[in-house]
Amino acid sequence: MTKFEALGLQKSLLDAITDMGFETPSEVQEKAIPILLESETDLVALAQTGTGKTAAFGFPLIQKIDSNSRTTQGLILSPTRELCLQITKEMQAYSKYERNINVVAIYGGASITEQARQIKRGAQIIVATPGRMKDMISRRLVDISKIDYCVLDEADEMLNMGFMEDIKEILSGTPNDKSTWLFSATMPREVATIAKKFMHSPQEITVGAKNSGASTVQHEYYVVGGRDRYPALKRLADTNPDIFSVIFCRTKRDTQKVAEKLIEDGYNAGALHGDLSQNQRDLVMNSFRKKQIQMLVATDVAARGIDVDDITHVINYQLPDEIETYTHRSGRTGRAGKSGISMVIVTRSEQRKIRAIENKINQKFLVKKIPTGMEICEIQLYHLANKIKDTKINEDVDAYLPAINDVLEGIDREELIKKIVSVEFTRFFNYYNKSKDLNSSDNGRDRGEGRDRAEIPTSGAVRYFVNVGERDGYDWMSLKDFIRDTVGLGQEDVFKVDVKESFSFFNTEAEVTQKILDKFTDFKVDGRFVNVEVSKNPGGGGNRRRSGGGGGGFRGKRSGGRRDDDRGGRGRRDGGGESKGRRRDRSESSSPNSGKRRSNKRKGDFF
Ligand code: ADP
Ligand code: MG
Repeated sequence: MTKFEALGLQKSLLDAITDMGFETPSEVQEKAIPILLESETDLVALAQTGTGKTAAFGFPLIQKIDSNSRTTQGLILSPTRELCLQITKEMQAYSKYERNINVVAIYGGASITEQARQIKRGAQIIVATPGRMKDMISRRLVDISKIDYCVLDEADEMLNMGFMEDIKEILSGTPNDKSTWLFSATMPREVATIAKKFMHSPQEITVGAKNSGASTVQHEYYVVGGRDRYPALKRLADTNPDIFSVIFCRTKRDTQKVAEKLIEDGYNAGALHGDLSQNQRDLVMNSFRKKQIQMLVATDVAARGIDVDDITHVINYQLPDEIETYTHRSGRTGRAGKSGISMVIVTRSEQRKIRAIENKINQKFLVKKIPTGMEICEIQLYHLANKIKDTKINEDVDAYLPAINDVLEGIDREELIKKIVSVEFTRFFNYYNKSKDLNSSDNGRDRGEGRDRAEIPTSGAVRYFVNVGERDGYDWMSLKDFIRDTVGLGQEDVFKVDVKESFSFFNTEAEVTQKILDKFTDFKVDGRFVNVEVSKNPGGGGNRRRSGGGGGGFRGKRSGGRRDDDRGGRGRRDGGGESKGRRRDRSESSSPNSGKRRSNKRKGDFF
């Protein structure tokens, strides 16, 4: 008996589950499904984004629907068109072995007559946004007076978006004895109000801590001058060559402006906000899903529908007004058991807001420094070397090889490597060479610029380079554990772990440097040398965890369990050739990604 079978699900669903490749139920599924199957009850289920809530209500709903009747029996309300379509698609996949179950999506921005037509054909389950639903009810195009089940999905987001009145109105036209299932990531007061007002002694299940952000997310902030937000953003992107991120701005105007600047500067960026047509938004979302867009700049409202699993970074270009909104933003990363990073760019005066967020999410932020130009160059250099190593040889060059050999004759291996690497590296170097420190603070002494030899420091923090990364199955948590366990260090000894695709950086205090270098001499894992070197750049110096935090919220019991999963399962699926598109785009345009227009692009640093 599979674990899904043990929850009481019927054969047709189990077969669909097998097809989808789900092996074990997630926690919210394990808790919710038996309750919903066994009893007619109202339910409030709180679980973070990415925990599988759709299936937690979707499976039981399908099992409970009478497919012989064409009456609408289930209504799922969800905040956005995106989510509506996503849920509908999922429900259709769940019910693929059921005969005669029709799931219809109802949302704004599409033909209402076409949607009405689909409903007329018989829809046992309707998935709707509140606005369009209300509209269709008032035009008598749907009948929800006989529903048995109403699901309020992403309830907090719906209320955030101002759908309270619509929801009340919709619910007032439904039977009193139906069951209402409310699913939400957080439990703000408005959600509690809905639960109280429209539900009858609901059962409650909570996965993880109430009102806390996903614990797989590391929160970081960077303090810069108000005018340095944009150059800071660029440096954050340049330090993470494989970034796949959502960047949040407060206004549509800023969103558009930042996206345009990024595109102009050669990044694969796109804008998502309410002033775009539905068609434009669809195009952007499609490119983002396909990772043709690596940096999606979005407003909070427009981003509500984003449900993409692999987002590596959320960047708060500006902080939101509401702390609750921060939770929603950072919840876009760290989904489906992966780890993610939520970065916040703040000015000095905004720092107090960080404290408020820490209190709310029950997690500490790391204070980090915007990387110096030379650090970025170093990272780009290693990235480039790895890219060359991983490049598949195109056999078609064979024909030209004799001629090429003639051209390159007399250049020895070492010189040739230097030249090849310089082709791309020089662009970054020229752009960032002598660039200013963007960190807004008085203590820039640890910056390390101008240091040209990696001597072994005897005090303070030491930054290391290690030749393993994401591709080897590490994330910042598991790499930290690996180093700690291998060298035999304490909980707090390894910090500022930055995992890149095929290499990483980390810090320790200088006292343990010798120990680390000794341990990693001729050290092999699975037959491969794991090489640790002192990095040329100390990486923002001895910037440990903010004091008073005692190490922050990342070492809860839970991380112990998670990290084992992560280690085995998180190798990259795509083998590393994926950044081609971006690279090509970038090298054809401007700063620091283009040699040609670089000089006049420098100005762009002061956006
Ligand atoms: P939520 O609504 O909680 O944000 P979703 O229902 O959108 O989360 O699920 C997030 C992702 O996890 C989806 O891609 C979904 O297909 C996947 N998923 C859900 N349940 C499971 C499971 N039991 N095993 C594997 N993947 C799952
Ligand atoms: Mg959901």
